[in-house]
Amino acid sequence: MSKPTICFIGLGIMGKPMAANLLKSGYPLIVFNRTREKMASLVAQGARAADSIADCAGRADVTMTMLPDSPDVQEVIAGSTGVAGAAKAHSIVVDMSSISPLVSRKMADTLNKKSIDFLDAPVSGGEPGAIAGTLAIMAGGGEAAFERVKPILQVMGKSVIRVGDVGAGNYAKLANQIIVALTIAAVGEAFVLAQKAGLDPDVLYRAIKDGLAGSRVLDAKAPRVMNRVFEPGFKIRLHQKDLKNVLETAREIGVPLPLTAGVQQMLTALMADGKGELDHGAIVQFAEKISGVKIQKIDGISEKIS
Ligand code: NAP
Repeated sequence: MSKPTICFIGLGIMGKPMAANLLKSGYPLIVFNRTREKMASLVAQGARAADSIADCAGRADVTMTMLPDSPDVQEVIAGSTGVAGAAKAHSIVVDMSSISPLVSRKMADTLNKKSIDFLDAPVSGGEPGAIAGTLAIMAGGGEAAFERVKPILQVMGKSVIRVGDVGAGNYAKLANQIIVALTIAAVGEAFVLAQKAGLDPDVLYRAIKDGLAGSRVLDAKAPRVMNRVFEPGFKIRLHQKDLKNVLETAREIGVPLPLTAGVQQMLTALMADGKGELDHGAIVQFAEKISGVKIQKIDGISEKIS
């Protein structure tokens, strides 16, 4: 059976490498991006550039979107010139953006009325996971629709799990984002304390990483922090958006999240301080600023101690 034609909309940090992996796996690919120059490298690899969102979705069996937040997804899917007005009946739309689960459900309602299936399938794993095709993909939607697109998702992800009906994918992603943001904030406070006490952060990292405090977040962020590498990656402003969606959703369903609310305030402070475009590893800069301590390797100490 020939492979379904895929329309991919949103070729940013994540979308471009995800789309490139689909091409490499032999899927016929049509791409669209608001800033058109970003389509060029995929066209050079064999994708076809669409003239508009409608041109892209109207020619595809599966439309995938990878956009920043709920309003962007609403505009691209349900807007006056959006996917819903152009996609074929019985095609599937898979939104892989991290957005509000409540908006995912609205998108499903809009599309289902036109006999178009919808899945929310946000991802974790960052740009490196998108490039390597090793993302963790958490999908929400009907079982039949999920089974139809699972082989496509498996090209982009190493784990592809259906977590429930539409919206469940984004609930899972919000849970993921709470854990990541709060862990980075905790790493910031822990390393500031140790640095002020005179420890070398590199030695601290090596001493604790294989104990209970060890984690993928610690491994990904601690070395970058102590080497002062804050290029994104996943930007502070996108993580602030995720925690905003967490708190709005939690309010709707009556769940208090005091720790998340505190870290959301830290992210807002960092954005007000002009750090919104830095990697979310820079959440540690909040603890640094209020204590006047910079987490930084101490020259020569690592060698003397180890
Ligand atoms: P990004 O680099 O900012 O890319 C966003 C893309 O969406 C760009 O192609 C942008 O087009 C397009 N776009 C934005 N608003 C639009 C609109 N209103 N209409 C049409 N196109 C629009 O973002 P990203 O880092 O790839 O993140 C995308 C999603 O993945 C977000 O929900 C994010 O939370 C999630 N995510 C990101 C990471 C990560 O590490 N970066 C990891 C996991 C999940 P232009 O080129 O014209 O700006």
